[in-house]
Amino acid sequence: MGGPTPDGLTEGLNDHLCRMRGTDHSPPRCAALYGKLGEHIQCGIYEFRPSPCKEFEAGSAACLQARQRHHIASH
Ligand code: SF4
Repeated sequence: MGGPTPDGLTEGLNDHLCRMRGTDHSPPRCAALYGKLGEHIQCGIYEFRPSPCKEFEAGSAACLQARQRHHIASH
């Protein structure tokens, strides 16, 4: 939709919004995510990740909640 995120990794929701492929799966898993949760994991498009990912702060309350939900220790 004109942003830096590769189109092939996204799917449109409407004329203005899109989401990363795989985030609507059960369990959700972004198509750009590589590795094994809780071991070594990384974003395959870090420089080109979408704005919500850029705004999500490591160590924030939401981050800690997500880690807890996936049984990942907080540092
Ligand atoms: S940071 Fe990367 S892997 Fe994580 S949700 Fe965003 S695009 Fe996907």
